[in-house]
Amino acid sequence: MISVDDARANILKNISPVSTETISIDEAAGRLLAEDVFARRTQPPVDLSAMDGYAVKASDVAQVPTDLKVVGEAPAGGSYDRLVNKGEAIRIFTGGPLPEGTDAIVIQEDTMRDGDIVTIQESSPEGHYVRSAGLDFSEGQIGVKTGKQLTPRDIGLLAAMNIPWVTVRRKPRIALLSTGDELVRPGEPVGPNQIISSNSLLVAAMIRQAGGIPIDLGIAKDNEQSLRQMASGAKSADMLVTLGGASVGDHDLVQSVLGKEGLKIDFWKIAMRPGKPLMFGDLEGTPMLGMPGNPVSSMICSYIFLYPAIDALLGRPLRTPPTVPALLSHNIGANDRREDYQRAQIIGNENGMPCIKLFSNQDSSMLSALSAANCLLKRIPFAEPALKGSQVEIILLDENYPLC
Ligand code: AMP
Ligand code: MG
Repeated sequence: MISVDDARANILKNISPVSTETISIDEAAGRLLAEDVFARRTQPPVDLSAMDGYAVKASDVAQVPTDLKVVGEAPAGGSYDRLVNKGEAIRIFTGGPLPEGTDAIVIQEDTMRDGDIVTIQESSPEGHYVRSAGLDFSEGQIGVKTGKQLTPRDIGLLAAMNIPWVTVRRKPRIALLSTGDELVRPGEPVGPNQIISSNSLLVAAMIRQAGGIPIDLGIAKDNEQSLRQMASGAKSADMLVTLGGASVGDHDLVQSVLGKEGLKIDFWKIAMRPGKPLMFGDLEGTPMLGMPGNPVSSMICSYIFLYPAIDALLGRPLRTPPTVPALLSHNIGANDRREDYQRAQIIGNENGMPCIKLFSNQDSSMLSALSAANCLLKRIPFAEPALKGSQVEIILLDENYPLC
């Protein structure tokens, strides 16, 4: 059995980033930018008014009140194209270009208008309420750097920079193969000894959340032919994840069958609970992660191993789930040699620290407790017993992997 950290390092060592694709910025929020993007224009392109009012010469309005003659108009998207002389003003609106000869804006609220005469009641120094050309950015300036996961704010900036398309990492395609004679899909007729395949949907949702595309290969029966045939669907995927059949039982065939198909095992079995039978290898050039079938094991293995693998496929820095300190609301026993991840709920707060309660039954088949849990208690191998009120480390679920 290898440690969790070594297992993760082995997985990451064997994964390289997927190729890139060019997409409309309309579709690009949440995607990983694969090249530096530079502004294709200067913004604002010319000096613009920041307010509705009058464009004036600051020197004309140094003493107020004073009357100026309104000789034209400069709306946003239009312009006043003659030189403005001493004693003249231009009616201007927010976003309107500053006419030549003017250098300040007097806001509408500080004026009185009578025909083509405007009385200026407040003076306005040079540059007042003027957005000068290039205030926001200049042509050729870097907008967003390669590797950034694009936020809606970045999309706004890129659009303003006149960038219609961006080159991003392709979404990694993760093939998911469920295994087990007992499994049927949700909604299908269920025989007396059957259960619903919940894992593939759970893991598929997690893959989407991490920025990948799940490809459901379906449910293979626990026999060689079915497994072989269905696993062949993973050929064009960036990674294959098998669910179930990874352990030591007579019906756990993933390793032996895929071995005949060329699977080279890197490691099998890790010092972790749940998830001990996890395996990782290479199936003819496709990285393969074989997870145990119990839903809780699959979920936690996805969190600890598949998410970093997807990050590596996206070529982004790893988002290792950070642990945060918490207080125990009850005593817990010592841990054995396996790193342990227990389902827990935050039930209160003491001195700014979350206070947690473990689910009394930690059986790795239990989806109800998994759904109700909002954190995992992480215990290192051979952790000592801990008393109520002692400080422990938890991983907050749902917080570290925002939707991509
Ligand atoms: P296995 O790893 O194949 O030995 O499966 C371990 C346990 O997980 C068994 O009780 C299976 O019935 C269950 N299991 C396997 N695959 C799934 C799945 N896709 N959805 C829900 N439970 C599963
Ligand atoms: Mg099975």
